[in-house]
Amino acid sequence: MNLAIYLLHLVLNMSSLFNRTKIVATMGPATADIAVLEQMFIQGLDICRINFSHGDYKAVEDTVNNIRTLNKKLNYHVGILADLQGPKLRIGTVKDNKVILVEDKTITITTQECEGDENRIYITYPQFPKDVKVGETVLIDDGKLHLLVTSTNGIDEVKCTIMIGGTLSSKKGVNLPNTKISLPCLTPKDLKDLDFALEHDFDWIGLSFVRSVTDIADLKDIIYKKGKRARVIAKIEKPEAIKEIDNIIDVTDGIMVARGDLGVELPMEQVPMLQKMMVQKCIQASKPVIIATQMMESMITSYTPTRAEVNDVANAVMDGADAVMLSAETSVGKYPVKVIEIMRRIITQVENNADTIYYREHAPEIKTITYVTDSICFNACQLAHHSGVQAIISMTNSGYTAFKLASHRPKAHIYIFTDNLSLLTTLSLVWGVQGFYYDKYESTDQTISDLINFVKQRKLVKQDDLVINIASMPMKEKGRTNMMKLSHVI
Ligand code: PEP
Repeated sequence: MNLAIYLLHLVLNMSSLFNRTKIVATMGPATADIAVLEQMFIQGLDICRINFSHGDYKAVEDTVNNIRTLNKKLNYHVGILADLQGPKLRIGTVKDNKVILVEDKTITITTQECEGDENRIYITYPQFPKDVKVGETVLIDDGKLHLLVTSTNGIDEVKCTIMIGGTLSSKKGVNLPNTKISLPCLTPKDLKDLDFALEHDFDWIGLSFVRSVTDIADLKDIIYKKGKRARVIAKIEKPEAIKEIDNIIDVTDGIMVARGDLGVELPMEQVPMLQKMMVQKCIQASKPVIIATQMMESMITSYTPTRAEVNDVANAVMDGADAVMLSAETSVGKYPVKVIEIMRRIITQVENNADTIYYREHAPEIKTITYVTDSICFNACQLAHHSGVQAIISMTNSGYTAFKLASHRPKAHIYIFTDNLSLLTTLSLVWGVQGFYYDKYESTDQTISDLINFVKQRKLVKQDDLVINIASMPMKEKGRTNMMKLSHVI
């Protein structure tokens, strides 16, 4: 296919590359070339994740500029998610970057900075000797090395027995699944990274190692005080967060099932059912949920995924997740474009064949201040379900109706119109939502007719299709959604 035909194909078939389940990809050296990123956009990338655990501000700034240049060029609304490191614990450097820890031997963990060896290693957590208790577990390098605490001096040294040994290299991550960690969730580094992300108007801010609702409330407070509108993703990777999951979902704007650390902090066999539980709760609460880590891990170096990875992505789509995420597969992997293409193909296949994804309608609560809007969204989805409606078309100022409609997982397409450009990039994370810019607020009749014509011209609906419009009347007041209209496309 020559380039002109390929572009024509793209313009005429925009919806054919559209997935209801969105794709999040982590940026890194492998995506630094704008030509590579453009191909990733075309293959179906929805949200670019900037992992602040790695990379410098100059590289991040270049990436942000590339994303915004491509959005303008392609008329896309790819959003940006900042991932703040949170209180990630690490050991320091070790001799020759390779030390062997031998089973049953004793090792000292110290808070005094030093080059580690087989007898003594440094940890980046000053309160560790105070917080840890005898009998607790120390896991290093994603749980590959396993230590048991035998004593602590409460000041700067903790002695451990090596239960499962092996090779230890520098700066590996540490997990303390049983210890009540006294570090704040937002570290000084996170506060600096957050400033940077807010100055650059990122759409979503993810916070790692969330333990309680106050972690999320503190982050939201900072965002609010800076006059920004970024929304918050709570990364769920600690047992404390699982215990408080209902309250966390209540206060956050979305969650990430961070399966990497979650499967170290808790027995890994619990992760699949926890994933299903969290997806289900988020759908009920109309909050987006991202499934993360090792989805297509083998594609870091291989041109095709394993069949088990294909199944994993497919299962997340069947669960009803809003988005599936790629980490090293795109940030440092050999095939950052191919992995998006394959992920999109898996999603499309499942969305076209698994009816269990759809129609998760949940009745709205009466006597709430959002009841009218909630009821319109619920009834629009019910009507769409029973009448074979092709599309639900909505106007929104805050995005509320988009989140609500999506939470019912209608099979009808969700077309959202707004004059708020930053909302369009935010909504790229939300299941099923396709956003468009629209800034004319004339009569209700005129706007409804405009929007139907708009989607008809783009071949998203055709003559005689049934469509539902929902909106707020009177339109000029930009109030809450309170009206629904069912009509045929003429
Ligand atoms: C995870 O642990 O699954 C995760 C997404 O965290 P990170 O990649 O930030 O370590």
